[in-house]
Amino acid sequence: MANELILIVEDDDNSRKLLRDALQVIGYETAEAENGEIGLRLAAERRPALILMDIQMPGISGFEALRSLRSDPDTRAIPVIAVTASVMGAQQNDVLRAGFDGLESKPVSIVGLLRKMRALLDRQSAPSLPT
Ligand code: MN
Repeated sequence: MANELILIVEDDDNSRKLLRDALQVIGYETAEAENGEIGLRLAAERRPALILMDIQMPGISGFEALRSLRSDPDTRAIPVIAVTASVMGAQQNDVLRAGFDGLESKPVSIVGLLRKMRALLDRQSAPSLPT
């Protein structure tokens, strides 16, 4: 159930390792990118089931990376959770308005993050209802 591929896009080494280790313990497969450009390439190549996206990165930001993902038919439907420091009020609205599927603030609560991920993954794989 939890062997899906999760792409972690995060420039901070320690944050990336923390997420990778936690996800691997649960049984997820992981791919890692240290910037948005690599993240976009890996997303297209490997089609992860879900992406964890840092917002503040050198080069393209998480917002820009999300726009690129959504503009590509191959990656458009991949759920993307923003992982970011200081998400108070206005910025939280910015993140959700930008089209992220979820938001996790740093320091990351692993249990909370796993719950959000699972909900999105299950929604994604649920059979669509006949119309
Ligand atoms: Mn960062």
